[in-house]
Amino acid sequence: MNAYDSEKMADLLYASHGLEKTEHAEEADVIVLNTCSVREKAQEKVFSDLGRLAELKLEKPHLVIAVGGCVASQEGEAIVARAPYVDLVFGPQTLHRLPALLDERRRSGRAQVDISFPEIEKFDALPPARVEGPTAFVSIMEGCSKYCSFCVVPYTRGEEFSRPIADVLREITDLAARGVKEVTLLGQNVNAWLDMDSGDEDLDFAALLEAVSAIPGIARIRYTTSHPLEFTQRLIEAHARLPKLVGQVHLPVQSGSDPILQAMKRGYTALEYKSIIRRLRAVCPQISISSDFIVGFPGETAADFAATLKLIDEVGFDGSYGFIYSARPGTPAAELPDNVDAATKLSRLQQLLAKTDAEAARVAQAMVGTRQRVLVDGHAKRDTAELRGRTDNNRVVNFPGSSRLIGHFVDVTITATAHYSLRGEVVTEEPVTT
Ligand code: SAM
Repeated sequence: MNAYDSEKMADLLYASHGLEKTEHAEEADVIVLNTCSVREKAQEKVFSDLGRLAELKLEKPHLVIAVGGCVASQEGEAIVARAPYVDLVFGPQTLHRLPALLDERRRSGRAQVDISFPEIEKFDALPPARVEGPTAFVSIMEGCSKYCSFCVVPYTRGEEFSRPIADVLREITDLAARGVKEVTLLGQNVNAWLDMDSGDEDLDFAALLEAVSAIPGIARIRYTTSHPLEFTQRLIEAHARLPKLVGQVHLPVQSGSDPILQAMKRGYTALEYKSIIRRLRAVCPQISISSDFIVGFPGETAADFAATLKLIDEVGFDGSYGFIYSARPGTPAAELPDNVDAATKLSRLQQLLAKTDAEAARVAQAMVGTRQRVLVDGHAKRDTAELRGRTDNNRVVNFPGSSRLIGHFVDVTITATAHYSLRGEVVTEEPVTT
């Protein structure tokens, strides 16, 4: 989500002020820190990064320093109070106002802070995305109204609101016309999407997927992140019905223990989560599932953690993210005693990741010898003489091949597994049409 927002900021500043991206802070006229406050570590980093930028500004007084994202949203004016050399502070919902804020800063000479939640205006004010390669992200909803007890997102990004279906379809049709073949629908809880304009209850996320699927040129559809609460039977049936929908779902579970899930206010039990996976696999046996886990939530006992490990064994995840619980100011869980000691938290995280990584390695190993269709999105990172593509289940495959395959689908045979990626060789030298 933040990577997407950063792209939008760059597009905006290019369109309004002709500002181009640079990898070197010393070359920049404007430096934007797009921040995350989902965990404390990310939040602390902002102020240490700002400290370094302050030195740069001493040498280059016209440098504009902007802080966007969720830390900005949470701290607002306090950022300027603590770091007076900061010129602009804006939240995830006011990033479209960045050009106007920049103008106003230059005109008035005063720091500008805008962390309001003007909702839909944001999408209308964004320039068309610059297309780089055959894949693109498309934001379909913003914010979150789930209020999980540990999570800061509803307070920093605001309540859930969906983009109207006509706008989403127009954007994807336009992307397809510019060569995009794969879209990832983005949002905190994409499956909470509902067409607000019509108020028609049937125009839900499953219906949106169906409509996106009908757009010529779009061959693959991904989405992230979904939430177990609204993982409806209609969505499961969409997976059965729509061949363009990839065989991979990221569905955060957070814990396998019911008392912890309840304390987290997740709104489902471990059994209900497993029931979703069972029904999904009944219609898509090959589907690969990844998840997010939090260890060391207040009150998490050894038995609670054992229930999480058991759930992992039962479900069989293909890779997952694990996080040590981090108390976020203003969230209900921050009031609970943080009573799991640091060493226990770390040991639980290591056990958890060892399990999910081992599962992912097993899945990768089972892919060796199989034929996979990959969308070639560029050159391999390590060896630029090779190509890089992604499989339907979102694995990176590196393989030798001609540059003219970039942007196309090609079939490869998987020959080996590498660290977090696969190696392959092309089956035919020609791109495949889907
Ligand atoms: N909306 C999705 C959901 O709730 O299922 C996930 C979005 S959240 C930005 C990404 C992940 O960060 C969460 O799934 C959770 O595992 C982790 N996370 C959120 N708040 C956290 C906290 N206070 N401490 C540790 N991890 C946290």
